Amino acid sequence: MTDNFDLEHIWHPYTSMTQPLPTFKVKRAYGATIELDDGRTLIDGMSSWWCAIHGYNHPELNQAVTDQLQNMSHIMFGGLTHDPAIELGKILLKITPPSLDKIFYADSGSVAVEVALKMAVQFWTAQGQPQKTNFITTRSGYHGDTWNAMSVCDPVTGMHQIFGTSLPNRLFVAAPQTKFHEEWNPQDIAELEQAIQQNHEKLAALIIEPIVQGAGGMRFYHPEYLRQAKALCEKYHLLLIFDEIATGFGRTGKLFAWEHAQVEPDIMCLGKGLTGGYMTLSATLTTKHVAETISRGEAGVFMHGPTFMANPLACAVALKSTQLLIEQDWQANIKRIEQQLSQHLVPLNELDYVADVRVLGAIGVVELTFNVDMKTLQQQFVDRGIWIRPFGKLVYVMPPYVITQQELSDLLEQLVEVVKKLQGAH
Ligand code: PMP
Repeated sequence: MTDNFDLEHIWHPYTSMTQPLPTFKVKRAYGATIELDDGRTLIDGMSSWWCAIHGYNHPELNQAVTDQLQNMSHIMFGGLTHDPAIELGKILLKITPPSLDKIFYADSGSVAVEVALKMAVQFWTAQGQPQKTNFITTRSGYHGDTWNAMSVCDPVTGMHQIFGTSLPNRLFVAAPQTKFHEEWNPQDIAELEQAIQQNHEKLAALIIEPIVQGAGGMRFYHPEYLRQAKALCEKYHLLLIFDEIATGFGRTGKLFAWEHAQVEPDIMCLGKGLTGGYMTLSATLTTKHVAETISRGEAGVFMHGPTFMANPLACAVALKSTQLLIEQDWQANIKRIEQQLSQHLVPLNELDYVADVRVLGAIGVVELTFNVDMKTLQQQFVDRGIWIRPFGKLVYVMPPYVITQQELSDLLEQLVEVVKKLQGAH
């Protein structure tokens, strides 16, 4: 199944070139179906890592790309502008926190995070506080693979441990402990409070994934944590950065996860589902106050400008994807997925090697007591006609929103069968 050229020459995410994991060649994908080169079909449980919210090969998204292609696929954004960027901007400002007013488009989630961190540093320099250059964050976070994004990922579960002291040294506090549905434990904020109190003079911002910590552990925490964190940021003069790259566009049951807490950040990063998974695009949004302060600073400008900034094809499809989402009753649809996830997955809690089962919106997580063998498990899933890529102790799904009730039942029944058979395998 694995292509030999691919195996020998092409790197895949987080894999070895001497002992690469097998890859499955995909011929095409449509709706929630991935069709392999050998004709087998898989029900998609991953949305291509949170992105493909409307599924694959969507006629309206295809049309948006085709239409834009007739005009231009790309044009530099320095000194030029275009409707896709403008119209996308208008819709983003409508659906994100009211205080956010300025948009910076970049090419990927990691770059959006770099942009957010740079904004925070430039903001404080412009405020006459150039010593405020460091960042505080919680453990179990994940913010991307570029240098500064790596530096704010969990030093262990964030996959960048190997880089050790070559990364800038950030301040880490324990991950929020009170779970999303539990009663708030006021002690949960104590460590963050103490760390901010002691270090605020050097801190530019707190960066955090609101409500759902994704690749750093798939944890869902209590909204009160964000309310208290916001109060601390205001009291000690830190900017608050929300990384909504994974949580955005309906995934947690709200359009964006900040809504669970009703806490508005100073800077927000979007990516992944922004284009419905069609191509790479991200946006970093900020307030008028932050943007104007940066612009009054010594540099007078914000110092960033990637080649593919606001790529018109990506903006056009992002606009259509966002319209598609908000024009439908997406809340009811996410509820439907959430209920089905709970119904199938929660009973797994009874297994002694299942540490936790959690569901929020269209995210379902089964946490085991041991690390899974990704290669074996992935093969078993494929043999059963489903696409799920576990990591560490986690078997999790975040299906495309277009997945039908039947497809989701099939996906989850197979997942449950595989997890049940793990008994004795560890
Ligand atoms: N932030 C979060 C919360 C993410 O989940 C990811 C991607 N897994 C990123 C940032 C980085 O995005 P990208 O892979 O597009 O650079």
